[in-house]
Amino acid sequence: MPGFRELLAKVKKNIREVDPAEAETRLGDATFLDVRELDEFEQGTVPGAVFIPRGHLESQIEGKVPQKDKPVVVYCAGGTRSAFAAETLGELGYTDVVSMAGGFGRWKNEDRPWITPAVLDPEQRNRYHRHILLPEIGEAGQQKLLGSKVLLIGAGGLGSPAALYLAAAGVGTIGIIDMDVVDQSNLQRQILHNVDRIGERKVDSAKKTLTQLNPDVDVVTYDVRLGADNILEIIDGYDVIVDGADNFPTRYLLNDASLLKRIPVVHGSIFRFEGYVTVFKPYEGPCYRCMLPEPPPAELAPNCAEAGVLGVLPGIIGSLQALEAIKVVLDLGDPLVGRMLAYDALEQSFRTFNVRRDPQCPACGENAGEIVIAEYDDLCLPHATLADGSTTDH
Ligand SMILES: [Zn+2]
Repeated sequence: MPGFRELLAKVKKNIREVDPAEAETRLGDATFLDVRELDEFEQGTVPGAVFIPRGHLESQIEGKVPQKDKPVVVYCAGGTRSAFAAETLGELGYTDVVSMAGGFGRWKNEDRPWITPAVLDPEQRNRYHRHILLPEIGEAGQQKLLGSKVLLIGAGGLGSPAALYLAAAGVGTIGIIDMDVVDQSNLQRQILHNVDRIGERKVDSAKKTLTQLNPDVDVVTYDVRLGADNILEIIDGYDVIVDGADNFPTRYLLNDASLLKRIPVVHGSIFRFEGYVTVFKPYEGPCYRCMLPEPPPAELAPNCAEAGVLGVLPGIIGSLQALEAIKVVLDLGDPLVGRMLAYDALEQSFRTFNVRRDPQCPACGENAGEIVIAEYDDLCLPHATLADGSTTDH
């Protein structure tokens, strides 16, 4: 029966080892795999390293490092655990694996680059446990969500469920713009608010609800009317905008401003028993004007104050918007770029339509001139581009 030393010697014969100097030449090319325990990882790690404690290596490696022919540099604190890990990776079919002799201890002593990773505290690890269990998100994805900024246009029917789910998911900064006060007639669908908040500013009510749900979230409120004078300043720095606007001028204004700032917009709209969701990714997919160069005539486009809407419907559409926003932030799956999802509550059906970018689009087309952010009237005439560079004021 061989003892530990014999076993280690045998393993080392089966694997390849490199010293930290050679390992460093592989930074950026190879996957660095840290197989230490969490408390060791938290003290410092190689920048960009994938972290899988040795005990979870077999079960997690294929989720986190799917390409088995890609070079892997595996390390631990001193080079022992990583030797065993390298042998295991070979058995799992990884073809280009080296173990770093001397481990992270020697790497750090030799003044090679290292960072203290941003890690979740125990409470966060518990709160976001179900996210962390998903290999596609994990701790790194949760960190990304916590560092992300999402702006909601409106704290109403669509903004309510979107804000609640984004806050619950741990989106670190949620901006909300709304200039209304809570009215009793809102409570049929705007679940951010409640009877105690009637008469209160919607943004203040929203902030209270979201902070109670998740104190990790920084809720930034804008109790103003979104206009040409403030939109570029307000949206600046946000990663994604969730559009729950209830009128055409705001949607066109937002479209043009988000193109200018290159911020993706998750669009949602509802009418009676129907809802629509799509993602406008500037210059990669169609924009709002590609789809709807000008608004429909007023008689065909009643605003939300006039039109009826089934109370649950915005809950479904707003939740889909939150989901798409998270996908965009995490670069996850296929967001609805170039696709319009249409939901019919009476039929209980979802349909998806392709939406193409219009080469002639006045805002994002090939020949579109400079985008001009201007105040739009009720007809939202496309001020975005005029041949002579002027804007049309009405
Ligand atoms: Zn366009």
